[in-house]
Amino acid sequence: MIRNIISVDVEEYFHPTELAGYVRPDEWATLPSLVEPQTRRVLEIFDRHQAKGTFFVLGWVAERYPGLVREIASRGHEIACHSYWHRLIYDLTPAEFREDTRRAVEAIENACGITPRAYRAPSYSITQRSLWALEVLVEFGFTHDSSIYPIEHDRYGIPGFSRFARALATPSGPIFEVPIATVALSDRTTTPVGGGAYLRLLPYRYTAAGIRRINASDQQPACMYLHPWELDAKHPRLARGFVSRLRTYTGLRSMPRKLERLLSDFEFGPLTAAYASLPSAPIGAALSS
Ligand SMILES: [Zn+2]
Repeated sequence: MIRNIISVDVEEYFHPTELAGYVRPDEWATLPSLVEPQTRRVLEIFDRHQAKGTFFVLGWVAERYPGLVREIASRGHEIACHSYWHRLIYDLTPAEFREDTRRAVEAIENACGITPRAYRAPSYSITQRSLWALEVLVEFGFTHDSSIYPIEHDRYGIPGFSRFARALATPSGPIFEVPIATVALSDRTTTPVGGGAYLRLLPYRYTAAGIRRINASDQQPACMYLHPWELDAKHPRLARGFVSRLRTYTGLRSMPRKLERLLSDFEFGPLTAAYASLPSAPIGAALSS
C-alpha cells in the first residue's frame, strides 16, 4: 500500500487569500483567534487514526501561539513553513520574499527549536513568474517545496508542470518539488484532487477515487492538504461575493466526517519522509508539453 502525504496549512480563518480584500493584515490581531482550537481538532482526528502529517505553520501564527507549534511537534508531526504574512509570492520582489521567509523561519525556530525544511507558498503562488523563489528557499536551507499546483486556476498553477515530485536544480542547489495531487484525464487535461476545498465541495468518493487512481495507475503517493478552519462550521464568515463564499464556506459541516473517512481508507505520512532521494533535473525539465 502506498503511503500518501497529508499536510495542513496552519493559519487563521481570516488568512486565506479569498479574504485579503476584506481584512487587512494590520486588522488581524483585532479579530478573534481560533487557530488553536481548530488545529487541536485536526490533531485529535489525526491521533485517532495514527496519521502523521506535515504542518505548514504561518510565521504570524508561530509568533503568537508558540505552544501550539510545540504541541504539533510533540505529537510527532513535521513542522514546516507557510511564510510569515501570507502574501502571494508573485506579488513580492525577491528581497521582500527573502525578508518574509527569514522572519517566518525565525518565528518557527523560536516557537519550537526546529528549523523547517519544507515550504508551502500562500495560495500556491510559485508560478511561472515566481520560480526564482525556489533558489531563495534553497539558500534558507529548505530541502522540499510544495507550492506548485500543476493545473490552470485563476490565481495559481503551472499547467503542464510535472504532476509528481521532482528534484529541481536551482543555482543554489537542488530542491524537491512535491506538487499537490492531480488526476490526468487526458494528455491535456489535469484536474485537481488534493485540496481541502475539493473534499469539502464534492462528494467524498471524488477525492477517494482520485487518490486510488494516483496510487494504482501512476504508482505515486498523493499529496493532500487542508486548513484547520475548514473543519469548523461555526467560524466567523468574512467573505462576501458568491464565488468567495462558495470557495470558503461550503461543506464545512461535512469535513470532520470526510477527513475521518479519508484517514481510515488510506495511509498517510509527512511530506519530507516520502521523498529522500530523487534524480535531479533542471527546472525546465519539469515542464512537460
Ligand atoms: Zn494559506
